[in-house]
Amino acid sequence: MAEIINGKELAKKIRLELKEEVDELKNNGIQPKLSVIMVGNDKASEIYVHNKSKVCNEIGIDFEEFLLPEETTKEELIGLIENLNQRKDINGILLQSPIPKHLDIREAFNSIDYRKDVDGFHPINVGKLAIGEESFVSCTPAGVMEMLKEYGIEIQGKRAVVIGRSNIVGKPLSQLLLNANATVTVCHSKTQNIEQITKEADILIAALGKPKFVTANMVKNGAVVIDVGINRNDEGKLIGDVDFENVEKIASYITPVPGGVGPMTIAMLMKNVIKAAKNSRA
Ligand code: NAP
Repeated sequence: MAEIINGKELAKKIRLELKEEVDELKNNGIQPKLSVIMVGNDKASEIYVHNKSKVCNEIGIDFEEFLLPEETTKEELIGLIENLNQRKDINGILLQSPIPKHLDIREAFNSIDYRKDVDGFHPINVGKLAIGEESFVSCTPAGVMEMLKEYGIEIQGKRAVVIGRSNIVGKPLSQLLLNANATVTVCHSKTQNIEQITKEADILIAALGKPKFVTANMVKNGAVVIDVGINRNDEGKLIGDVDFENVEKIASYITPVPGGVGPMTIAMLMKNVIKAAKNSRA
């Protein structure tokens, strides 16, 4: 039976450590502040933004929210981002996705000052990650790496397989694993005979958004299985990309959904805001 990687507990521990760090920064006259921009009224985004503000409040990070109407123009959105880029009191700028279709999210991300890009989506941060330089790293992949570290899971020399190649999860995570000296294979929707590849993985990451896609026959005995997926079943219950009940029986470590990778993402965002605040005074 696999050991459960408890992301909820680990994220709680990290938040406590970050609170202490923020207290220390405040004693030195530094008040970290995150700004979040939301365009339109996406219900899920409202919940995500609310959760972020709650955690900021818990840790002592100031939070400023900008709720823009659905009909916001490109000029208005970029104008706001440029204004936030200039503001000295703001360390982190986060643009909540999705944004309305008439706006180009890539253009908006690119207009955020990379030094305030706490989501790690700016091409400069993506490029720095690729060449192994210090940068802001996308929060979910950073959270996965933190979990592996905390549970003492060796990465160097291991065979890691990542299912999913999105810019926010799959690609940065495979880059992080590569930087940590794993031998990395990335699978996607055009990959053939995927189970042959996943069966070779010492560390298997499911980040594709397909409920219970990873079944026990796709997993090697003793593999570490990390489930990034967040899906809802017919009863509205959250389920991951891994068939937890069966994979748990053969893996060495496994993350649950909920309570696995999810809580780590916001903790890593907070870490990035604190880093930006420190950098701003360096
Ligand atoms: P995404 O942008 O939709 O990307 C999905 C990736 O999976 C794509 O690269 C796609 O391949 C690949 N894929 C889809 N079907 C596949 C299949 N049958 N076989 C192999 N690969 C397949 O999703 P995302 O934003 O990366 O998110 C992935 C999952 O993680 C979602 O469930 C999302 O909700 C969750 N998530 C969780 C957190 C968290 O905090 N825990 C954060 C972000 C996302 P192609 O490139 O070929 O299309």
